[in-house]
Order: sequence, then C-alpha cells, then structure tokens
Amino acid sequence: MIHSFDALILGGGAAGLMCAIEAGQRGRRVAVLERADRLGKKILISGGGRCNFTNLHCRPEDFLSANPHFAKSALARYTPADFIALVEKHRIPYHAKTLGQLFCDRSARDILGMLESECADARVSIFPSTNILKVSREDEFVVHTAEAEFRAPALIVATGGLSIPKIGATSFGYDLARQFGLKIRDPWPGLVPLVLNTDDRSSYCDLAGVSTDVIASCDGQEFREKMLITHRGLSGPAILQISSYWKKPQTIQIDLAPGRDVITAFRDPATPRNLTALRTEFRKILPSRLADRWLDANPPSAWTNQALADLERQTHAWTITPSGTEGYEKAEVTAGGVDTDELSAKTMESRKVRGLYFIGEVVDVTGHLGGFNFQWAWASGAAAGRAL
Ligand SMILES: Cc1cc2nc3c(=O)[nH]c(=O)nc-3n(C[C@H](O)[C@H](O)[C@H](O)COP(=O)(O)OP(=O)(O)OC[C@H]3O[C@@H](n4cnc5c(N)ncnc54)[C@H](O)[C@@H]3O)c2cc1C
Repeated sequence: MIHSFDALILGGGAAGLMCAIEAGQRGRRVAVLERADRLGKKILISGGGRCNFTNLHCRPEDFLSANPHFAKSALARYTPADFIALVEKHRIPYHAKTLGQLFCDRSARDILGMLESECADARVSIFPSTNILKVSREDEFVVHTAEAEFRAPALIVATGGLSIPKIGATSFGYDLARQFGLKIRDPWPGLVPLVLNTDDRSSYCDLAGVSTDVIASCDGQEFREKMLITHRGLSGPAILQISSYWKKPQTIQIDLAPGRDVITAFRDPATPRNLTALRTEFRKILPSRLADRWLDANPPSAWTNQALADLERQTHAWTITPSGTEGYEKAEVTAGGVDTDELSAKTMESRKVRGLYFIGEVVDVTGHLGGFNFQWAWASGAAAGRAL
C-alpha cells in the first residue's frame, strides 16, 4: 500500500507532535510515524510525571551547542509564552516551581492529551507501532515499512536521542543524518548522575540520600543547586546540570558552603581550636553526617590560621574526578547530535538535502535542567512546521 502526504514526521515525541500541529494547521497533509505503540512516552515520564513543560526564564545561554547562536532564532519565534497560551487554551492547571520551571498540577498526561487533541484538530494522521525499514529519496522521500510505503516531498526527523533505551531510544536519527551525508557531533549523555572514583565512593557513598546546597563547576560553567549523594556517586540538580559540561578525565569543583564562611568562629580567641568545635561549625552548614565525613577525610593539617584558611578554601573547592556517568540508561538528554552547521536556523531544513529537516533532541542543541529541553522541542518543531 502507498500513502502520500505533504510531510512525513518520523517520531511522535514532543518535537514531532509540535511540528505536526503547526504544519497541519496550515493545511498540510501530515503523517507522524511512531515506532512505539503510543505517542509521547517520554513526555509521560518527564518531570517526575508532572512534565516541566517550559521555563519562564528561557535564554539562549541555557543551551549547549557547538554553535551557541543557532537556537536563538527558533527560540525567539516560539517562546514559553506561546506554549503557555496553548496550555491555558486547554485549561490545564499548572504551577511555577523554583527558577521559573512550570509543571502540570495534575499529570504529564495533560500535556500529551493536549498535543494529541491539537493533532486531531489539525487532521494529522498518526501511525503508531510503525517499524521503519528503510528511507530513500527518489523524486520525493520514501519511507518503507513492513506493511506500506509512505511518500512525501518533506521528511522531518524527530526521533530524539539515545537517552533511556528502555523506552525505545535508538540511534535512528543519527544514522539517517549520516545516510544523507550530514555531519554528527559525537553524542554524550547529559543531565546524568556521576559515578565517583573508588576512593571517593568508599568515603561517601554510604551517605546515599544526604543532600546539600552547593555550587558545582566545570569547564567555565557553574550551577548553584542541590547535590545528592547516591549509592555510586553524586546526583541532584547541581550535579545533573554540570554533568552536561563534563568530559572524562576532567575534574569537577564543588563548593560545599556557597557564600558561607566556615571558620569565622575561630577568629574569636575564645573558640577552642579542636575537632569538636570544628565539627560544630561544619554542622551549621552541612548535614551532620556529611560534615563529619568531610572532616574525617579532610582534617586540618594544623590549628594555625593558615591551616584553617586552607581548610576553608578546600571546603569551597572540593575537587572530584568522576570515574564516569550513569550513562544513557539514566541520562535525561543526549548532548551532541546533528551538527547545526548542516541546518537552517530558521527552518531546521538541511542545507544539503532539500526537504529534509531535523528537530528536537536529535539536533546538537541541549538544554539545561528546568524545562529547557521541551522548550527547544516545541520551538524547533514549530520552526520546521511553519516552513512546510
Ligand atoms: C526521565 C526524563 C525526564 C525528563 N523530564 C523533562 C522535563 O521535565 N522537562 C524538560 O524540558 N525535559 C525533560 N526531559 C527531556 C525531554 O523529555 C526531551 O528532551 C524531549 O522529549 C525531546 O523531544 P524529542 O521529540 O526530540 O524526542 P523524544 O521525546 O525522545 O521523541 C522521539 C520519538 O521518536 C520515536 N522514535 C525513535 N526511533 C524511532 C524510529 N526509528 N521510528 C519511529 N519513531 C521513532 C520515539 O519512540 C519517540 O516517541 C526528560 C527526559 C527524561 C528521560
């Protein structure tokens, strides 16, 4: 059987559905081909089930890319306010959490339901459980599946990255880009917990569950948020954020007492200079178990002013050398991807292959934690959808 459309969108996740809605609303006959048995599985598990669907303070600086300017145009033309307007049109209750992050009050199902209903209104044809065998290009694009052949002059690749293989992530998008001669920036797991080296693991990991406010920094970037100790290393928002910038064998600096002075009390001659007093001061700033453990591992070399000042410095720059990350199984995003030099920043169309578009996470644009990855999916999807 042969199906003919104006545009074929591969992947029914956040970016693919937004693209389908925009193109469908403009009268294009659009098909979404989705490998899974249902659309938007990642939307459903996002934000702890409540989908952090955008961020009020979205700026180009919240994205990593080999070309930091690439995302600006799409982000300016489809803003958080545009997506919020859609959410409000569907009367979906939501709330703002810290740092401008917007979440559903009820469930991520509300966002997926909204996208599905917009697709239905725009007469988008959805083909779930579609196993794509081959893509070729004759006078138009041809997508071969076991049962049928789909044809269209435009092909939009929205198949996401490599994160969370157990819900169906594959290298399909990168493979297709290579097939058509487009360059790929090597992907790596982003927003992912870090695994500590053996020594640090044996020193700290029995404190799994303990969390504290830190500044984590690496490669000229820093994030002030919570850090969480895990059974194998470190996680929590500060660590997830910095993980996107970390590459083995770099080190990461962690300020365990941001904006605080730990040894002030010892400037008073009345304060005894001993471990008990020092523990008391550290426990005012860090959770007690972490304070004690930190001091066990990093006792002052002496009780001189100089040694205490050194300890203060060390506390603001705990240097760790992670042995790795928890990998794509736990990564919230895949950084790297289709090289932005290959694409038009306005439409996401390939510069080399007319009618071929890449949108969403498969592109080398990766957001920080906090709703930015969905905002990129909406914005890049809308950019392509409006160009079809
Ligand atoms: C646990 C978790 C929580 C997250 N929470 C948030 C959050 O709260 N806020 C935020 O901004 N970001 C969050 N993210 C990131 C966000 O989900 C992604 O960046 C976003 O979904 C990317 O959208 P996409 O459409 O490019 O890809 P995806 O949403 O991954 O969609 C790709 C689609 O393509 C389909 N597909 C794959 N291969 C094929 C193929 N060969 N043929 C046909 N279809 C195929 C997939 O099944 C999938 O439906 C989270 C990610 C994870 C893993």
